[in-house]
Amino acid sequence: MNIVEKVKFIFFIISTCTLLSCGKDSSSPSNTNSPSISDPTTFVVINEHIHSSLPADWINEYNTIMTNLKNLLPLYKTYYNCIDIYAWNDKVPDPYPGIDGGAYISVKNNDDHQKLFVIEVNNDEFLWNHINRYSVIAHEYFHTYQMTLNSHMNKYDDHPTSFKTKWLIEGTASSFDCLYIQQYYSQNKFSSNQFIVDSAATQNPSIFENYGNDNKDINGASSLFLVWVLAKELQLAGHSESKSFRLMCKDFMQANPNKKNWPDVFQTTFNMSVSDFYSKVSSYNPSINTVLPSTSLTLESIFN
Ligand SMILES: [Zn+2]
Repeated sequence: MNIVEKVKFIFFIISTCTLLSCGKDSSSPSNTNSPSISDPTTFVVINEHIHSSLPADWINEYNTIMTNLKNLLPLYKTYYNCIDIYAWNDKVPDPYPGIDGGAYISVKNNDDHQKLFVIEVNNDEFLWNHINRYSVIAHEYFHTYQMTLNSHMNKYDDHPTSFKTKWLIEGTASSFDCLYIQQYYSQNKFSSNQFIVDSAATQNPSIFENYGNDNKDINGASSLFLVWVLAKELQLAGHSESKSFRLMCKDFMQANPNKKNWPDVFQTTFNMSVSDFYSKVSSYNPSINTVLPSTSLTLESIFN
């Protein structure tokens, strides 16, 4: 592609990924005492609404990806009952009444036990064959998996004991979607330098505990970087790479952190304090390429 196309493409990636990387979780009080279901042997019901504006080959691939994801990370009715997936191509006006565009997990009917899983795919991603049109499925699915592990993830954002530590939530979801793409498409999402880690990631990492600061976390790169630094530190402490990712992507969430106790859960799970971790981070170069996981790392080795 020529320079103009390249610039347009990078612009497009930055704008779409910013939108896609951050989950839009429930922002208003709904069922105040919501997380109470516990039926850990029954699968969550998934209702799919896949719009005809999407290309047939994307729909085929979507079906393959969902089959893979359900096998790898089955969703059980621990804290919610069902998911309604709505997907469409953004070249058409939002086709489902009451469903806003974007890529996010939210709640349906103001009920935290019913999740809304929305993927509005930018038409340019089909024109450019951008891998984001597939990785977004894995990314948002991983958020629904996190919500089966941690009751506090199912509370509205401002709830006093919700869990909203951004870099741990988004960094692990981005890790998951990157590893999915690496394993199934043999692609490294970082090969074209679209993932610029902000210097704040090493100098002031605590700012990424909060949503916001999106201009320093473009494409979720800084959150992802912090998670991958943690993976390196866990390996330095003697864990295998797959065990390190399991601790971050599963065990930590399963230990049910919330916004009050998460530093304690962090200490117990990773055997290091948050402040120790942040001081270790300061010795790294803020660059994704210095902390990439190995290309042989498989999702099965992490989750099975
Ligand atoms: Zn996300």
